[in-house]
Amino acid sequence: MSDMPLTDPFARPITYLRVSVTDRCDFRCVYCMSEHMQFLPKKELLTLEELDRLCSAFVGLGVRKLRLTGGEPLVRRNVMALFRALSRHLESGALEELTLTTNGSQLARFAPELAACGVRRVNVSLDTLDAEKFARVTRWGRLDQVMEGIAAAKAAGLRVKINTVALKGFNESELFSLLDWCAGEGHDLTFIEVMPMGDMDEAERLGQYWALSDLRARLAERFTLSELPLRTGGPARYVRIAETGQTVGFITPLTHNFCESCNRVRVTATGELYMCLGQEDRADLRAPLRGSERDDDVIAAIRAAIAHKPKGHDFDYSRAHVRGQMSRSMSHTGG
Ligand code: SAM
Repeated sequence: MSDMPLTDPFARPITYLRVSVTDRCDFRCVYCMSEHMQFLPKKELLTLEELDRLCSAFVGLGVRKLRLTGGEPLVRRNVMALFRALSRHLESGALEELTLTTNGSQLARFAPELAACGVRRVNVSLDTLDAEKFARVTRWGRLDQVMEGIAAAKAAGLRVKINTVALKGFNESELFSLLDWCAGEGHDLTFIEVMPMGDMDEAERLGQYWALSDLRARLAERFTLSELPLRTGGPARYVRIAETGQTVGFITPLTHNFCESCNRVRVTATGELYMCLGQEDRADLRAPLRGSERDDDVIAAIRAAIAHKPKGHDFDYSRAHVRGQMSRSMSHTGG
């Protein structure tokens, strides 16, 4: 039975997997992490070999698109070994796409090798084009380093999608400059609605909730937008801007309009499989991975978990619940 593709109880094929390869990050974006994050002990994290086995098991079960994320995936030591290993599934045709979501800080180093591994597209998170604001929102990041990374990705032939978290009073004034810059560089652009955060004071000051409906209305004051039927199975909508030809995406993590076409699940850096963005149901895949060198147990655990993928989610996000969990939760969205 191991070659039967994964399908959940609502007949949705599971073809898209996001895997967090580390909980660590070299930035401390105010809406995502506190400045003094406690990271997990190394032994809790899946090893690169375990990540390869796990991803490969999913590919064997019909996953066609694999996105590595984090934390920051490119700060995981020797992560390129994982990309190299996974690229065999692209070569065999079992996998359609191998991609990643990154803050861009390490892209200058890794872009050529990522391209050599068959990566064709990369999502880079970038909330502002102003160096001083960038340093404030990421706490530890440097804009020039990220810009070099993005340029390196482009030079290596990777298609770049910029993911921008919409933050009221922070990057509202940059709506059109971000759009222009992306148009000039040939990058796609997607805005992400900020998820509610805990009680991080700094976050409250820097990043207040800016509804994407408002952002979109502002775009429409200047441009002609037409809705695109493009669906990715995730919480994103896309429009085309007639005047520039650009595609702009909107990710509203808190809405659940697309559950019916949800084709995705995600795995944390410790090997927990989450079946749905908005629900806490999860299955431990680390124990079966570590319990046996054969993959039968892990495949059985994946199948059993998918049999419980919920129909949809309702996002009962209490503030306490969300706090400190953004990097885990967001690995499901544009991230
Ligand atoms: N380090 C990588 C990066 O920066 O893209 C991958 C992980 S990061 C958690 C994935 C995405 O989640 C980023 O685009 C980030 O901006 C977004 N994100 C984090 N916290 C968020 C929040 N509270 N609301 C909305 N988006 C958030």
